[in-house]
Amino acid sequence: MKEEQENKGNKEKQEKIYVMGNWKMNKLPGDVLSFFDKLIPNLRKYINEKTKNGDIKLSTIKKLETIIAVPYIDMFYANLYANEEKRIKIAAQDVFYKNEGSYTGEISPMMLKSIDVNTSIVGHSERRAMGETGDIINKKIKALLDENMKVILCIGENAEDFKKENTKKVLKKELDEALKDISDKKEDIIVAYEPIWAIGTGESCSYDIAKDVIKYIKSEMIKKGFSDPKVVYGGSVNSENSTSYLETGVIDGFLIGTSSLNPNEFLKIYINSAKFLNK
Ligand code: PEP
Repeated sequence: MKEEQENKGNKEKQEKIYVMGNWKMNKLPGDVLSFFDKLIPNLRKYINEKTKNGDIKLSTIKKLETIIAVPYIDMFYANLYANEEKRIKIAAQDVFYKNEGSYTGEISPMMLKSIDVNTSIVGHSERRAMGETGDIINKKIKALLDENMKVILCIGENAEDFKKENTKKVLKKELDEALKDISDKKEDIIVAYEPIWAIGTGESCSYDIAKDVIKYIKSEMIKKGFSDPKVVYGGSVNSENSTSYLETGVIDGFLIGTSSLNPNEFLKIYINSAKFLNK
């Protein structure tokens, strides 16, 4: 059993790679147009050229999931592009845990779903730092799953816990809290391992540490009944380091902050992922 769990957490080859962006509180609606007007033609050009000349298989492209979490105010325009280019999906960066009622300023799963946004990040460290608790995160996940939506659950230790070698203890607590009493639809949850000290700092986590920690997260998820846990890495990912993370063999993709704001850089990470998967 133990060996089987280990193997599941350490597959030689990913079946799918998630290339996911998080714009945070950046980009006005006008910037959305310039971003996608650059990204989409170049993405299509790459795919058309490379699949035509046989460098990249179409089946490889189909295994790439591209999701961009945008501010609510940008969703209308971002969705227009996602409708035109189906390879790109739009996600929310946060969501409330009730579907309607007197909750001033909040946005519900049902509201997101009504505009075809079917995924949300939950538990980003920047929201936890504003007071979001494990209990709230758990409620948000349940609310999304109840609406048959997908969840990107962020977990990660801070610099102090990293230095004190408390990483796994912190992650176990965050997983236990977030996934409490979640018995089905587990396949709709992707976990993002985002060490807080690596977010937006340019100081990315070493490949070996990311590999070890993500193997651990997957083994914990398997204990909780996940049959094929998906875990991505986030924290100063860029086009220079993305392939090395994939080469660890356990990382199912990325949640990308800063580098997702630049369409050329985001596309380079997509291309690196395509090349890796195609091998
Ligand atoms: C993030 O905020 O989720 C993130 C990973 O940011 P960055 O890529 O800028 O470190």
